[in-house]
Amino acid sequence: MTKKVIPFGKPFVVGKELFYIAQAVMNGSLAGDGEFTELCQKWLEQNLGCNKALLTHSCTAALEMAAILADVGPGDEVIMPSFTFVSTANAFVLRGAVPVFVDIHEDTLNLDAGLVEAAITDKTKAVVAVHYAGQPCDMDALKRICDAHGLFLIEDAAQAILARDKQRALGTIGHLGCLSFHETKNVISGEGGALLINDPRLIERAEIIWQKGTNRKAFARGEVSKYTWMDVGSSFLPSELTAAFLYAQLEHGETINAHRRHLYEQYFTALRPLEIDGLLTLPGTQDGKPENAHIFYLLCRSETQRTALIAHLREQGVHAVFHYVPLHDSPAGLRYSRAVGDLPITCDASRRLVRLPLYSDMQATQVAEVCAIIYAFFTAGKPSSTY
Ligand SMILES: *Cc1c(COP(=O)(O)O)cnc(C)c1O
Repeated sequence: MTKKVIPFGKPFVVGKELFYIAQAVMNGSLAGDGEFTELCQKWLEQNLGCNKALLTHSCTAALEMAAILADVGPGDEVIMPSFTFVSTANAFVLRGAVPVFVDIHEDTLNLDAGLVEAAITDKTKAVVAVHYAGQPCDMDALKRICDAHGLFLIEDAAQAILARDKQRALGTIGHLGCLSFHETKNVISGEGGALLINDPRLIERAEIIWQKGTNRKAFARGEVSKYTWMDVGSSFLPSELTAAFLYAQLEHGETINAHRRHLYEQYFTALRPLEIDGLLTLPGTQDGKPENAHIFYLLCRSETQRTALIAHLREQGVHAVFHYVPLHDSPAGLRYSRAVGDLPITCDASRRLVRLPLYSDMQATQVAEVCAIIYAFFTAGKPSSTY
């Protein structure tokens, strides 16, 4: 008998991707910055509300563009959480800058705004807010601090497509925002990303950096008679095939997120009695009402229990995974960065966190199955009537 498997995640195809890709092929121009790129960028600008969006081949690339635009150079410091993906830090290390890691808040696992000011030195150039699981950082506080100290505020909104903080789309609040369309995210194009340029003063330079350091964009608009090398840059733009795939996904972004929110709320409601009994901890945000439900996580009581829970789920065909080996004490982290204090919440969350399966065509019955297995784990030996 083959056992049924519930994967941790899987890429979701909405249906119109190949149709748009066929259109892109028939348009006869497949390089970047064509019709579908324009459609996606306009979609992002209108639906998120930002001045300018540029598609990139990944969120990593968008972060690298942000580091160039923030004029971060050797020795400059950039404040960010250690509880994040490597690209948040790497983008700045590539420019010779030093990531300065600050601890996270236990409710959101996002940068603890109350610790940021004390980490600022005369070398600090920027703060990177990472919206973990698509839940907002305390953007009002971070904006206030950055404005007071003349710092760039950059949002790593890789996980946060169409998530909001008080009506403002995440990624549109800082000077620059970075989105990911990697196949593990809610809205996907295989590999893909976007840079949101919220500060209009940065748009012209962003277009040059995006087009390999040339003013090709201005040339295409007829603003200059020939295009030439203007600045540093690279090939940050994706092909039209990627943009065509992405456009189909963007059109379904809200419905994808709505379905994920249902699944998230089902998990939250089902597991809440275990939290009330002190057996585990659920995300402490918004009473179980997620923004875009990118991740559903829970915290076990110890690392040992976490390892046992993941193994127990695995035996029953359910793939659950931990998250973020912190950056500050990783081999590259020790070489390139520094931490402010010992980051106790970061270390603790990293040891106890489990992410449960959540993907865009997951069914309610599957969430129920995962919850039943979790109940069996936590209540083994106790009468089931207790729950
Ligand atoms: C996924 C992710 C990235 C990287 O995105 P890519 O598109 O794969 O480059 C960066 N930061 C965070 C927080 C992420 O979750």
